[in-house]
Amino acid sequence: MRRKNLITLLLAALVCLSFTHSARYHRVKFVYDGDTILIDTGEKVRYLGIDTPEIGHEGKKSQFMAFAARNFNRQLVGDALVRLEFDREKKDHYGRTLAYVFLENGEMVNAAMIRKGYAHVLLKWPNFKYRSLLLAYQREAMRKRIGIWRYKTKKPEPYYIGSSSSYRFHRPSCPFAKKIPPHHIVRFSTRYQAFWEGFSPCRECNP
Ligand SMILES: [Zn+2]
Repeated sequence: MRRKNLITLLLAALVCLSFTHSARYHRVKFVYDGDTILIDTGEKVRYLGIDTPEIGHEGKKSQFMAFAARNFNRQLVGDALVRLEFDREKKDHYGRTLAYVFLENGEMVNAAMIRKGYAHVLLKWPNFKYRSLLLAYQREAMRKRIGIWRYKTKKPEPYYIGSSSSYRFHRPSCPFAKKIPPHHIVRFSTRYQAFWEGFSPCRECNP
């Protein structure tokens, strides 16, 4: 009798497990760009820890590799089933869900975008769960000079200024650079060096 109870219990546990497994997967309904998708719950999901080149809207110019990044993201997740993993913040100020997105084969899409050179690392406190992993993949892509890392700045600045609290870097003339408290200032001689350390470009001065 005891044995039978145990078997029943085990079976019930298995059913539960397989149920939670399937319940955690979502169908991707739309791919907006290299780092934003729509899933079957109606949620817009923004990939955490990365940033892909922007597709220009309303007459604005698209950034280098923007369409290539969207195409690669489509290849990976278009109509696929994905599992979301969260960090400390679940939503951003646009109401988008922030997540690390995993395919059924266990591959993390955020990491794949970085590894193939379609994205750079975007660090934002307190979401640092995969920071070292993503940065290691970025350095690999930078060394190989693939994807966005092929891009050469036409007019480089003599130096760049980063903030060790926001992980953003600026042109020396940027008003935001001037607001960084002295103890948070980090100086870089090249853009490459700033990216290498996991800093990402300011959206205002676009260094
Ligand atoms: Zn700036």
